[in-house]
Amino acid sequence: MMTVMMFDSGRKPQWCPGCGNFGILQAVKMAMSNLGLKRENTVVASGIGCSSKIPHYISTYGYEGIHGRPLPLASAIKIANRRLTVFAMGGDGDGYGEGVQHFTHACRRNYDITYIVHNNEIYGLTTGQASPTTLRGTKTKSTPFGVLETPYNPLANALINGATYIARGFAGDLPHLTKLIEGAVKHKGFALVDVFQPCVSFNKVNTYQWFRERVYKLEDTDYTPNDRDRALDKMYEDAKTEYKKVPIGLFYKEDRPQYENELPQLKDAELVDKPIKPKKEVMAELIKEFR
Ligand code: SF4
Repeated sequence: MMTVMMFDSGRKPQWCPGCGNFGILQAVKMAMSNLGLKRENTVVASGIGCSSKIPHYISTYGYEGIHGRPLPLASAIKIANRRLTVFAMGGDGDGYGEGVQHFTHACRRNYDITYIVHNNEIYGLTTGQASPTTLRGTKTKSTPFGVLETPYNPLANALINGATYIARGFAGDLPHLTKLIEGAVKHKGFALVDVFQPCVSFNKVNTYQWFRERVYKLEDTDYTPNDRDRALDKMYEDAKTEYKKVPIGLFYKEDRPQYENELPQLKDAELVDKPIKPKKEVMAELIKEFR
């Protein structure tokens, strides 16, 4: 059995003291240990940003990719070898800005991937510009007169486009976040866990205190995560109450076939187990086909 410590890579995280990323890292390692995952069968793919450094700090396979692209990486890994437990991770700028098109299509395809978004509502690594989830009116380096746009709603986007496990956690509540991540990994299909992650250096609005005064758990109410219309309504509760009430927990869950299991090419074997033809043979076949 792998302990939480055994998922520690031994590298010191290069994050500001107090950053919400520490809580998410710990929750991910706790979930991996509780689920009995094996390091050699687990992969973490990320994009670019403070949070995207996370593969360096977890002792599994990992790949820090390019901006906004953790999901293309994760989906390719999953298609190549469905036996692996695959995580994609990154920030709100990375995933909901640069990578939003990949997010939308990953939801539609329902790959069996756990996507954890460290949502600090700001671009942290580049020192404090507005991201897609920055609240309207917030003054940042890129919006000195305040953000004019309505914040992007990742949960609603996930629901509308077909994600089959949609949850939101808070980096300041580790037991709750760990449970959400465990549920996401156990779920067979595309799972989004959007996590409120205070950026103590550049977001002076959405602080630990701000969240503690507003978040409440869906599990503590009569809410059940199986009604699409009710879920959509709940996903807008924060905006509708002008952020007086901010629900966290599991918003929606359903079962639907996974993209990688529908591919006829993978019916008889994993891609990774298929024999690789010598390059010469492949080239000869291609030349013949297109002549
Ligand atoms: Fe964390 Fe913000 Fe520092 Fe980045 S800049 S490490 S998100 S506190």
